[in-house]
Amino acid sequence: MISLVAHDLLDLATAAETAYPNEACALLEGTVAEHGIIVLRIHLAQNVAATPATHFEVDPRLILRLHRELRDGPTQVVGVWHSHTNGRAQPSATDLAMALEPSLIWVITPVRNGVAEAAAAFQLREGPTFAPVQVVTHA
Ligand SMILES: [Zn+2]
Repeated sequence: MISLVAHDLLDLATAAETAYPNEACALLEGTVAEHGIIVLRIHLAQNVAATPATHFEVDPRLILRLHRELRDGPTQVVGVWHSHTNGRAQPSATDLAMALEPSLIWVITPVRNGVAEAAAAFQLREGPTFAPVQVVTHA
């Protein structure tokens, strides 16, 4: 299970629609709880991929900044979010190839004709493959 602040989930949907027809991306900061991942803050990122309509690459400067800021703190990067311009709420083969960190949750917001649809979440499993993770919200 991954729990996001309801307002953050709306902000991600808005970011996905704003970036359309390119993919949007973000890093998710939070904590690992007994019953799942709690996202406390989202960090929208610049998509620096060469082909942003079909791929995403989080700006490495954000990765470095968060690595520094969160070191030794109570929170960590717990997930990565991106939108899918093709409207599919499923990780692509490229996503699977890019998923190197098993502890990260992958959250995907599909966008169809410029309109964001419900987000879906996945976690890397042996195979490798992606297994669905339930998305819930908290206040
Ligand atoms: Zn993808």
